[in-house]
Amino acid sequence: MKKFQIDLIEWYIQNHRPLEFRLKKDPYEIWISEIMAQQTRIEAMLPYFKRWIQQLPDIESVAKCDDEKLNKLWQGLGYYSRCKNIKKCAIECVEKYEGKLPCTKEELLKLPGIGPYTAGAIASIAYGQRVSAIDGNVIRVFSRLYNICEDVTKTNVKKKIEKLVDESLPSKEEISYYNQALMELGALICIPKSPRCDHCPIQKYCSALDPASLPYKPKKKVRKIEYKHVYIWMYQNKVHVVKRADTGLLAGLYGFDEVKPEHIIESIELEPYIHIFSHVEWHMDATLCIVDREDSNYKTVEEIEERVALPSAFMPFMNQVKEYLWKK
Ligand code: SF4
Repeated sequence: MKKFQIDLIEWYIQNHRPLEFRLKKDPYEIWISEIMAQQTRIEAMLPYFKRWIQQLPDIESVAKCDDEKLNKLWQGLGYYSRCKNIKKCAIECVEKYEGKLPCTKEELLKLPGIGPYTAGAIASIAYGQRVSAIDGNVIRVFSRLYNICEDVTKTNVKKKIEKLVDESLPSKEEISYYNQALMELGALICIPKSPRCDHCPIQKYCSALDPASLPYKPKKKVRKIEYKHVYIWMYQNKVHVVKRADTGLLAGLYGFDEVKPEHIIESIELEPYIHIFSHVEWHMDATLCIVDREDSNYKTVEEIEERVALPSAFMPFMNQVKEYLWKK
């Protein structure tokens, strides 16, 4: 093993966060935690992860779980397509692999929702396979370590970094620690804006001249803006929630109506809200419409909180409805 890997692993052993799912090396728990941690800080996703594992302790329980419950457990993490893919993947594991995740990166990559990073993390951490797990943290560390100033969103630059990571992999015995050490270094020391180079265990091997400027990525395109008006139909203390269309943003999830109800007896304008998705911004106005009749889609706030996975785009309005009911 090269000196750089030894120093990194030694630092990791002494300084890593006690993340139970990584220490346990359970493939199922590593899989769920890695999917949940995409676009979410580990500390923020931990309560979701614990709740999920308590209620769905293995792959079979995920495969059998109904979509409403899965969405409810996922509520707050966003990107609901990842939750849908977890279920598809669990069903495939039950059908093809006796309820387990396969152990090679190649087989894992064939499963729904599992990309190269997640496949690498499961194969190396849980099964000790000598493969890389390259996420944004690892790209940042390597672009700095080798002072790569080209655009890391370009395929040829990504490939160059992948090659450097692959060449750096230690033996099977150390692979789990090494990959976790790289992730942890990227999360705790080689952080995006102000890297903590003075505390870095591999500073003496690092060629970065201006680390904070790396990795270089061109400016993101401006997000598209969509204007929406939601109408929250309310009868007595019940709110009308509807299942959204099967395509488009938040497909198949619950939300509020986008048409005015009939039989309005009072209208109240709510505070507008802007919800930001990765490529789109929803600029939303909302009207609370008190009506004089109900149907089966009306639910109490308690029922919604217990059983309906309302996406975070609608939560500010839900909170205003709760406030209205509370003041009544
Ligand atoms: S020395 Fe600084 S830039 Fe280089 S790897 Fe360490 S933290 Fe990152």
